Amino acid sequence: MGAIGPLRKLRTLQTRRTRTDKVSARVRRLLVRTLYTQPLSLAVGAFTTVGAAAVAAWVSGIPELTVACFILAFIAFARIVAAFGLSPDKVGNSTSMLELVYEIGAFSYALALGSTAAYSIWIAAETEVVVLLVANALCYGVGVCARNAGRLTIAVGQLCLAVLPVAMASFLTGQPAFIALGATIFGLIAGMLSIAINIFKVLRDSIASAETSAQLADKMQVLARTDVVTGLSNRAGLNHSMVETMMSISEESRLALIWIDLDRFKEVNDLLGHPVGDRVLTEVARRLRDVCPSSTTVSRFGGDEFVAFCPIEDRKHAEQLASEIHAEIMRPMRIEGDRLEVRASLGVALLPDDGKDADTLMQCADLALYHAKVGGRAQTCFFDKSMTRDLVRRREIEDELRLALQRDELSIFYQPIVDLETGQIRCFEALVRWFHPEKGELRPDEFIPVAEETGVIVTLGNWITAQAARTAATWPEDITIAVNLSPLQIRAPGAALGMRNALKEAGLDPSRMILEVTESLFIEDNHATANFIQEMSGIGVQFALDDFGTGYSSLAHINRFPLSKIKVDRSFVSGPHVGKKSDAIIRAVAEMGNTLDMEIVAEGLETIEQVKAVKEAGCTLGQGYYFSRAVPDYLAAMLLAQERDGEKRRAAGGE
Ligand code: C2E
Ligand code: CA
Ligand code: CA
Repeated sequence: MGAIGPLRKLRTLQTRRTRTDKVSARVRRLLVRTLYTQPLSLAVGAFTTVGAAAVAAWVSGIPELTVACFILAFIAFARIVAAFGLSPDKVGNSTSMLELVYEIGAFSYALALGSTAAYSIWIAAETEVVVLLVANALCYGVGVCARNAGRLTIAVGQLCLAVLPVAMASFLTGQPAFIALGATIFGLIAGMLSIAINIFKVLRDSIASAETSAQLADKMQVLARTDVVTGLSNRAGLNHSMVETMMSISEESRLALIWIDLDRFKEVNDLLGHPVGDRVLTEVARRLRDVCPSSTTVSRFGGDEFVAFCPIEDRKHAEQLASEIHAEIMRPMRIEGDRLEVRASLGVALLPDDGKDADTLMQCADLALYHAKVGGRAQTCFFDKSMTRDLVRRREIEDELRLALQRDELSIFYQPIVDLETGQIRCFEALVRWFHPEKGELRPDEFIPVAEETGVIVTLGNWITAQAARTAATWPEDITIAVNLSPLQIRAPGAALGMRNALKEAGLDPSRMILEVTESLFIEDNHATANFIQEMSGIGVQFALDDFGTGYSSLAHINRFPLSKIKVDRSFVSGPHVGKKSDAIIRAVAEMGNTLDMEIVAEGLETIEQVKAVKEAGCTLGQGYYFSRAVPDYLAAMLLAQERDGEKRRAAGGE
């Protein structure tokens, strides 16, 4: 093989190298690393080559060779020191610097070795000395060329500097044997060039492909840990960073795990569609990222749940952060021109106060979140040990609720709904009560959600309806009865038939039965629900929309259903947010009720001022402690009797 071919190849390779360098500096660094991988081999090489030169100097007694030997030893020593001192793993050591240092050492050593051998030929030293030094230079040149093929310039440079002086000196002697040696050396260079280029290519390609697959693996891992909708980390990502954080924190570190759950997000999805739902999630994610400190891991944990995991200074700091997050999420957002108010509940657990490992923290935050939701949503709860007790209590309730009916522990209380104009009772709302032999009176807020979750609500609801209908049948005919109906009850098979039977058995006119339903019912486009409402309306049963103003539902929905009453939630009457705004809402609802021929009931009236205010705002009916609490059936009957007596007396007095 001629020397020109490999040289051209080398040049093209050099150009490609520059390109490769541009593509991946890391590949280049890895290749340079191959120069530094075994500093010990450098030492061994130096020992043998310097040793050979020393033997030659000693055998021949030529002083120049002794000097050459010292020069070689000095360069070798400097190189070994540099190789051990400069680590490619150190960030400060740039690739070019590492390469340059190696180049200077390698080139000067190869040149010294080649020149020493050439000198021995030139001065016609003894044959064994020449053989030793020439073999030394050639073997070194060949060996090092293969070793350093990772950086071609260095490999070829070393080869040429070690062997070319020998070839030159050989030619200059003019002796045929030496001329033949010089020619052989050129053949050797050509052969070695081709070998080095091949090694270089294999090395470069395998490093590059290993790099590519490593990068791909990195990318896949990032993708597997990222939520596609929001770009936040997902559950796997959160787990990963929690494990990493837990391993790197010190004894004094404090962390907060904030679990955020959007309230009634399903309604946003159902009402406005999934694309809007996704936009809401993305916006919430953006706000979370903005409001949380940069060291926080923010992740989307599930459908509408987010978890923020962040270092904090103390509990106060966590409280402040939680309240900022809450305020930020609740700030109205504009999505596709629509103004949306998203509400969220937050559960917070702290490390190390509440737990020392990730699992415990998650459990605590989950429990705290559950409390925030049960406690009326749109609030933040910090974990407290009593919550574990509450959970136990909830489990007990779950177990005992089924038995409560058989044991006759449940009863129904009746709360009057009063005509604000005349002050007379028009209706009673049936409210269930549980008198537990050990736990005392349990609030429906505590067990109705459990009954709904476990499905017991269907049996329970049927019993309540039947009981309430029977009681109402004993009242004067102009008094109606309102019964709360859970969506699950309506969707249960045979719901309409059950209701008909209850009315028939009690002998109650269907028009005296008012079913109180919540907005969530209208949002799910359920056939069973629609059929039930239609069938019930068909026989004259009335529907009332309960807790109006607490959901997402718009006024537009109200029109689509046969509602005879709207009950404005008590938070508009007596909550902490009562003010001009809630007054305006009541007015608007009352006006609409007037137009659509619906009655507006104000819930939770506790004072005469509230009664006057809602009446003035246009409500026609009122319910609340101001008039009466929910009372047992015999007291309800007594209230009615008193009222009728009073009327009779007034009528008699008037006569
Ligand atoms: P709701 O339907 O909004 O019932 C009104 C609740 O407000 C009742 O609480 C009632 O006692 C309370 N309330 C009435 N007037 C006032 C007032 O002036 N101030 C205040 N602060 N509260 C007042 P209760 O009986 O604890 O019921 C809570 C919820 O449990 C009910 O809210 C209803 O959603 C559910 N519930 C009660 N009984 C039943 C039932 O038989 N079936 C179903 N499915 N749910 C029921
Ligand atoms: Ca109700
Ligand atoms: Ca209500």
